[in-house]
Amino acid sequence: MKRVLITGAAGFLGSHLCDRFIKDGCYVIGMDNLITGRITNLEHLFKHENFEFYHHDVSNFIHVPGELDYILHFASPASPIDYLKIPIQTLKVGSLGVHNCLGLAKAKNARMLIASTSEVYGDPEVHPQHEEYWGNVNPVGPRGVYDEAKRFQEAITMAYHNFHGVETRIVRIFNTYGPRMRLNDGRVLPAFIGQALRGQDLTVFGDGSQTRSFCFVDDLINGIVKLLESDYSKPVNIGNPSEITISQFAEEIISLTGTEQKVIYKDLPVDDPKQRKPDITKAKEILNWTPKVERSEGLKLTYEYFKSLTKEELFHTEHSNFDKFIIR
Ligand code: UDP
Repeated sequence: MKRVLITGAAGFLGSHLCDRFIKDGCYVIGMDNLITGRITNLEHLFKHENFEFYHHDVSNFIHVPGELDYILHFASPASPIDYLKIPIQTLKVGSLGVHNCLGLAKAKNARMLIASTSEVYGDPEVHPQHEEYWGNVNPVGPRGVYDEAKRFQEAITMAYHNFHGVETRIVRIFNTYGPRMRLNDGRVLPAFIGQALRGQDLTVFGDGSQTRSFCFVDDLINGIVKLLESDYSKPVNIGNPSEITISQFAEEIISLTGTEQKVIYKDLPVDDPKQRKPDITKAKEILNWTPKVERSEGLKLTYEYFKSLTKEELFHTEHSNFDKFIIR
């Protein structure tokens, strides 16, 4: 039985990864400090004999007894609002955290996969973004804490691979959505659906002409598992190339939810990328992976999840004060 450590296990992607590896018959150790993760995402796994949870901050020394086959480093604040609120922790988990995980991978002779991001391309001048593009990142802008931590993470991972011979994999994750996203994490999909469910107008930032390409979580998890099982150690984009403007996306959410609210426009946050779309040629060729879930289908499944939340959860607005955290 393979033993897998997943950091950021209580987060959106981490919890889906825990489910997947349990389903595949692995022994899963989930680790999370619960700053942005939620234990409710894992509650259903606690009764499972092949799952255990460590409440631990990976930026501090990690001790895991026994053997490990795989380590997947998914711990990190991941939405602009989160990393603006906790910038130092964001930098630490992408530097000290990944260093600890790589040290552990070396000690256990485990294969390590890190969650990188399309943010390494910054506000891209190449479209769509392929893996050879070096990016256009502002290191001292509001997104710098996340983008540069992730870029450092890729660099140290390649160094451990080249210098210590650790088996490593790097996935560059593009915008992903699905059940278990946090309603108030500030990302566009939970923001719009939350607003529709609360009877508020939908806030489009800027003129809404900026683009994103949204991948359903099940597709992403399949891509990650395929990459982990491959022998390819350079970065691979995983995302859905179906590109849409944020204005069009707001219209899709309006028709999905049937809300009678309208779109209102707010200032565009500083350094907000104008366009983003993955070139997935590598994922297709190396992993034989393509996304399968159409946006219309994925959005329906995601809306069902948000509708199942309690009124209390829906109106809990701890993170929804955009103006306080987003620098414009
Ligand atoms: N956005 C928006 N309204 C919101 C939240 C986000 O128009 O209430 C925009 C945001 O400015 C960005 C896009 O939606 O252009 C995607 O934002 P998100 O935070 O989801 O992801 P990222 O910018 O990291 O791709």
